Amino acid sequence: MLAIMEKESSPCMLVSREFQNENSCIKVGDAVFGDNSIPVIAGPCAVESRDQVLYIAKSVKKAGAKLFRGGAFKPRTSPYSFQGLGEKGLQYLSRVREETGLPIVTEVLDLSTFDLVESYTDVIQIGARNMQNFSLLKRAGKSKKPILLKRGMAAELSEWLMAAEYIMEEGNADIILCERGIRTFATHSRNTLDLSIIPAVKKQSHLPIIVDPSHATGVRDQVFSMACAGAATGADGILIEVHNKPKQARCDGAQSLYPDQFAKLMGTINTIHDIVKKNKGKRK
Ligand code: PEP
Ligand code: MN
Repeated sequence: MLAIMEKESSPCMLVSREFQNENSCIKVGDAVFGDNSIPVIAGPCAVESRDQVLYIAKSVKKAGAKLFRGGAFKPRTSPYSFQGLGEKGLQYLSRVREETGLPIVTEVLDLSTFDLVESYTDVIQIGARNMQNFSLLKRAGKSKKPILLKRGMAAELSEWLMAAEYIMEEGNADIILCERGIRTFATHSRNTLDLSIIPAVKKQSHLPIIVDPSHATGVRDQVFSMACAGAATGADGILIEVHNKPKQARCDGAQSLYPDQFAKLMGTINTIHDIVKKNKGKRK
């Protein structure tokens, strides 16, 4: 069905390799997504306080993270769970940028808060639950800021690329795709990291794709290996949740690395990435 729709609507999508053969490179601060480097985005799931974000931001910066993440508006399964600090959280993120120089990535949940989030952040995240929120995608397409588009938890590759097409068709070509795990029958992890989508995306699209092993596993002990696997698979970046007091975290503590674990992981990611880069020509 989708194949037919694709054909009818657009024989050559803007996000496709047929349309543009060279990789798209998206520059944010010192980081470039898509130029064969591996910038790392790190930070807590949710912004909880000014001290919390400043502490974590300083530690992840020291370890080599290039961007800081944290949600001020959180998409929660339960309406009784912490929903985020809202604009106050965005202000704390601005403070992080001022004090550390790290660009900010934060999620936008809906059209009513889009202008507000856009005015504070450097990269706008559209989360898994909103991957097919078409009005949000169209609004993101009108933004001048790069969009981090997470894969929906049950989205096929063609649906994901079509979501990116909604953004690009409105004029915003700065899109970073993010694989964050899909729903399967597995119970040993929260989701299943679908690494095979990386070579598949690279074949079909010129857009960069990064890997989020934190949401893909939901389990701290699995994050290190899956981040390494993402680097080995040729990801254009890695997104990691980090918290200094994960037991007290208001969201996703169980999957958040401690800052010292994150620092060790950074060293390993860079080692793997060097090997991948050296062997690049041999992949095909
Ligand atoms: C997040 O990044 O904190 C988040 C909610 O991610 P996802 O949309 O992948 O669940
Ligand atoms: Mn999270």
